Amino acid sequence: MIKIIILNNLFENEIKNKIADLGIKSYRADQIFRAIHKQGVMSFDGINQVSKADIELLKKEFTISSMEILKDFHSKQDETIKLLYLLEDNNIIEGVLMKYKHGYSLCVSTQVGCRMGCDFCASTKKGLERNLEAFEIASQIYLVEKHFSINLSSIVLMGSGEPFDNYDNVIRALKLLNDKKGRNLSFRNMTVSTCGVADKIIEFGKDLPQANLAVSVHSFNNEIRNKVMPVNYKYPIERLFSAIREYLLITNNRISIEYTVIPGENNNDEDVNLFRKYLKNTNYIVNLIALNPINAYNNKEYKEEAKIFMEKLKASNINVTLRRELGSDISASCGQLKKSYLEEGERNEIHS
Ligand code: SF4
Repeated sequence: MIKIIILNNLFENEIKNKIADLGIKSYRADQIFRAIHKQGVMSFDGINQVSKADIELLKKEFTISSMEILKDFHSKQDETIKLLYLLEDNNIIEGVLMKYKHGYSLCVSTQVGCRMGCDFCASTKKGLERNLEAFEIASQIYLVEKHFSINLSSIVLMGSGEPFDNYDNVIRALKLLNDKKGRNLSFRNMTVSTCGVADKIIEFGKDLPQANLAVSVHSFNNEIRNKVMPVNYKYPIERLFSAIREYLLITNNRISIEYTVIPGENNNDEDVNLFRKYLKNTNYIVNLIALNPINAYNNKEYKEEAKIFMEKLKASNINVTLRRELGSDISASCGQLKKSYLEEGERNEIHS
């Protein structure tokens, strides 16, 4: 039986090698690649440059998979737009489009669900459903740019899923996005966010040293971090920071440390000391995050506590900023929108 290959997962040279076996001229690979990754085409019909006869040959061994924007939710407080994407197998993933002074940034998902089990995250409640294909990661960018007629300045892989738990597809997607014949997005404008998969941090530094890395730390205390982020059992804080130091040596980058302030748990004086201990001689920026007021973890407003903690850190010469809260009225935190959307049963209405 012939295996059907997803054409939109492939680099131009891979397409070239495969179409040669079908007797299709190698220059067609350039046209196919550009159609998919520059024009965002998601069906054979959209590849106008290639002859009908060649398209019929392609269909014997390849498929072009598609996905679409299912819904967009516009914040009334700011210009944040939350998105739901519908995948070919009817799974749903989400994203957030944010507008900053320097341009648009898109928060991108890498898996359907997640198995990392972070305590405050709605994406993990049902565990991992499946990894996203490389094209499903890259196509989030293509779809959003087309739909809103914009050019994204940057992307952050911080939506549902742990990028390093789907490592090969993530790296492939970033390389596809970077390809000069395709979207040509600079690696410098890509940030991958991990909950702390230490081994992959080093691998990532070697594979894509130009891209940025953000690490969700949330506590430097193993006992607390075990509770909040079970990944810490496998990669305790000492192991995580030894990987981060190796990453920084390889890349010469600055790392972002993401830290959600959980009042009473991780914002005490001992925590400030731990910041100093682990971040000493490290090129970093700390992004403090106030727990989202509609987060299932706790319904209280935590902004004030985050501000107070930021001042304490600043007084200890920690390089810290408080992340601007965007789109809190549209469930802009990881996994929240999909969860509430599915709970409302709208999905059944749409797919019935
Ligand atoms: S925060 Fe990220 S890594 Fe943690 S469970 Fe949610 S999606 Fe997974």
